Amino acid sequence: MAFLWFEAPSLGGWAVARLALGSYVITPGSQPLVRRARAGTHASFQARLVGSRTPTGAERWALCSPPHGIRVNGDPVCLGLRVLEDHDEIQAGPGERLFFSAERLAEIVAFPGGPRPVHCPRCHQLIEPGHLAVQCPGCQTWHHQSDQLPCWSYDARCALCPQPTALDAGLSWTPEQAHA
Ligand SMILES: [Zn+2]
Ligand SMILES: [Zn+2]
Repeated sequence: MAFLWFEAPSLGGWAVARLALGSYVITPGSQPLVRRARAGTHASFQARLVGSRTPTGAERWALCSPPHGIRVNGDPVCLGLRVLEDHDEIQAGPGERLFFSAERLAEIVAFPGGPRPVHCPRCHQLIEPGHLAVQCPGCQTWHHQSDQLPCWSYDARCALCPQPTALDAGLSWTPEQAHA
């Protein structure tokens, strides 16, 4: 899961968009600044934001840009490719700033299973693959979350860390914190 923060003068601040895995084109000086890449268009070399999954299931995002194009945290993308880290600042053009955020939200999903059995820290029972569960965005620990076993939302905080369990808690990091 990843998000892109962008300045939205019409809203008087920052707006955020969730990035779905795939390819996006960044065109400095244009509106919109970032849009989803369409398959089959190979015009001039454009700056691209590309996200995909590693063999272990982790999500990785990279920025591909001509060497004199986009900057990340003030540096040119000197080899034409840069793997993005949480809170990286992307400067597309004058006054065009974006922030990459790898923050995750608590989501109810079917538990994908793993190499070893996983026990819920709240009820201590096994979490079976396919059962509805939430992975804590803070400590990555899985908890049941179904009508029968609402273990994640049972308390205001994660069983193992201070992460709030409200499913509509929203993102906790914003670009205002970048220079704090
Ligand atoms: Zn449980
Ligand atoms: Zn936690």
